Amino acid sequence: MTETDDRYSILFEPVKIGPVTAPNRFYAAPHATGHGWNQPHGAIALRAMKAEGGWGTVAVQMTEIAPDSDMANHPMERIWDDSDIPRHAAQVEAIKKHGSLAAIEIAHGGMRARNFTTGRPIIGPSSLPVLRPEVPVQARAMSATDIKSFRESHKAAVRRAKKAGYDIIYVYAAHDISILNNFLSLKTNQRTDAYGGSFENRLRLIREVLEDTLEVAAGHQAVAIRFSVAEPGRPGGLTHDGEGRDVVEALAELPDLWDVNISGWSQDSATARFSEEGYQQPYTEFVKSLTSKPVVGVGRFTSPDKMVSLIKKGHLDLIGAARPSIADPFLPNKIKENRIEEIRECIGCNICVSMDAYGVPVRCTQNPTISEEWRSGWHPEAPALSKKLQSHLIVGAGPAGLECAVTLARAGHQVTIADAAKEAGGRVTREARLPGLASFARVRDYRVYQISQSANTDLYLDSAMNLSDIEAFDADNIILATGASWRADGVGSLQFDTQQMTHPHVMTPDDIMDGALNDMPPSRITVYDDDHFYIASCIAEAAAMAGHQVTYLTPLPTIATWTDFTLDQERIIARLASLSVPMLPNVSLTTDGSFRHSLSGETLELDSAALVFVGARKPNDDMAEALHEKRAGCVYSAGDCLAPGIIQAAVLSGHSIAQQILNENNPHHKREQILLQTS
Ligand code: ADP
Ligand code: SF4
Repeated sequence: MTETDDRYSILFEPVKIGPVTAPNRFYAAPHATGHGWNQPHGAIALRAMKAEGGWGTVAVQMTEIAPDSDMANHPMERIWDDSDIPRHAAQVEAIKKHGSLAAIEIAHGGMRARNFTTGRPIIGPSSLPVLRPEVPVQARAMSATDIKSFRESHKAAVRRAKKAGYDIIYVYAAHDISILNNFLSLKTNQRTDAYGGSFENRLRLIREVLEDTLEVAAGHQAVAIRFSVAEPGRPGGLTHDGEGRDVVEALAELPDLWDVNISGWSQDSATARFSEEGYQQPYTEFVKSLTSKPVVGVGRFTSPDKMVSLIKKGHLDLIGAARPSIADPFLPNKIKENRIEEIRECIGCNICVSMDAYGVPVRCTQNPTISEEWRSGWHPEAPALSKKLQSHLIVGAGPAGLECAVTLARAGHQVTIADAAKEAGGRVTREARLPGLASFARVRDYRVYQISQSANTDLYLDSAMNLSDIEAFDADNIILATGASWRADGVGSLQFDTQQMTHPHVMTPDDIMDGALNDMPPSRITVYDDDHFYIASCIAEAAAMAGHQVTYLTPLPTIATWTDFTLDQERIIARLASLSVPMLPNVSLTTDGSFRHSLSGETLELDSAALVFVGARKPNDDMAEALHEKRAGCVYSAGDCLAPGIIQAAVLSGHSIAQQILNENNPHHKREQILLQTS
């Protein structure tokens, strides 16, 4: 193990947080994992992995205090009654085993709760519609008695958290997902009693709950507050130089730790397409000037130099990370051991975030082992166990091929990987050329570096392999990871039959990524999006920035529909609007190749020099069948050539195939099982 570089030793200083001491400045911030209270094994193993990887503090996600804060279907943690304590105690033990502090974010969702499973009325400061336009109910205005009983319920949850052994207990007032935010906000608080009106009145409940929590903690546990100091883009929302600042000033020395960020979630978890590392700093850096208590903040930090500068400039005391700790649970240890090049940097794609909307365990583009720590026994760093050493030929060095190669090589296997292209990375190298997607290249860079350090892996570029090349290659297994190609025949998400494409110049995303726009004089270009994720909007953006007059069409009623899950949709629409790109939803490609407005039935006259058709992709699987026949049992297909999908799926597929080979086609996946109660 190499010594820590002196430049980074400041990151490994202990930090006193009230009565407890964090062993270093790395703070795995609370985040949704999709493993809620009913999937505890997965949740515990995921968080224990972060502790093993060197995060000095590991925080548990939003934990509902009581049945009237039921967030289902978002699978949150629960600490409703004493029966929840053993699960939390096991979690604390697993985190502390590695010397880390365990923190719990206990919370009441207020007007963002749903109470679907408990059937309780939603509660809040005023009788107003809940903060979910998709849920047609109103909150009940809390009486003075209700406020008292909420405080009691919060205190009871703190007592249970104490019993479970947590070191840090949160008061949650962030992301607009807390009853405390509802009381603070003029929008949701229309009360005229001691809890409404003036700033001090609206702050009252936060102050009281903090005091209650400190009282129960009684100097044994640290009490943290998670607070969003600003709500950029929200009309009438908090600002860091307005009431956001006033809150910090008013409560400055009360909590033991300030965990600060910006709200809503799409601001807090902005994607790399629209934000740089450290994007929250301009909002949060004032906090330290108002308090002597330690401050933790987030901002997709992956660079140790950036982290050091934040500490030295006095902006933060602890480096908070949700996504970077998902992408690389071992980030702190890698910095400690001076293995900086080995950091698996978060690419800021928000696939992790999208899983929360589905209510399923988190997935990550960079880290295929996340959520599989307990279920499959996968480890993000340790070599997978292998029954016997073998040799493998991998055709294709995209995300799937590279991940498969790294996983097999780490287990000691001999790997040859060949790619027709002059550069490794497949689709991530190509997509990284589109505006805002440069960070996608990190998927390639991490893996190519691993391969460069591996004595048992050979990577050959500019090496197209045909059937006979592959057959002639002496390897125990062949893994095809040859990707997929964008179709130009009208087939997309809403249109499964091939269409006449009457437009004289049809292009695909592959053409654009190959530079088709570069030599075109400024022209009218139509982008038709029947893919509904990010590619079409990136192409529209690239074309507009290159001086073309772009129109974006899509058959769905909304623009780039799936980007709602990655919290990008609003920004995409704003970006295209700022580039004067007209966006026309409900426009469909018809069987005669024309475009028709599906509501009015009108045909659109497309006076454009080129049509970029963004639809489905065709797997590059021409060789698969012949090889499967000739080498039955020794041929595998991974990634987009098996089933075109998102980059995360390709990485996971490459990893899964490697694990399958290493386990001799006998993968072992455990299931979280609910035990039937006998009484
Ligand atoms: P995935 O996302 O599944 O990893 P990609 O499309 O990103 O797929 O990568 C596939 C890679 O396979 C590309 O870099 C491409 O150049 C390479 N490839 C495809 N066919 C061949 C072939 N016959 N020989 C070598 N490389 C190939
Ligand atoms: Fe980062 Fe993307 Fe992984 Fe989320 S899914 S942690 S944004 S790389």
